[in-house]
Amino acid sequence: MAMKNYMEDVVKEILRDLEKTQPIHCPCERCRKDIVALALSNLRGKYATTPEGEILARVEQSDRQVRTDALLAVMQAIEIVREKPRHQGSIK
Ligand SMILES: [Zn+2]
Repeated sequence: MAMKNYMEDVVKEILRDLEKTQPIHCPCERCRKDIVALALSNLRGKYATTPEGEILARVEQSDRQVRTDALLAVMQAIEIVREKPRHQGSIK
């Protein structure tokens, strides 16, 4: 569970950083949540075959690699959500 929280923090931080230089198509809460969720499931798939303890060890040792993976996952998620935003037709 520590892993999940860590990844979520990294993904949210990266999304915030990206937005400073390159605003996402839509800043609404729905799209932001979709981007974070998609990026996280993508990352989970990538790390799924690694035992959790090993992931944690790796995270501590090579935070940079994890961040690079997370950045890619976030950028892919932004593309997907931009093409098929789910906020359309939703009532606030
Ligand atoms: Zn939106």
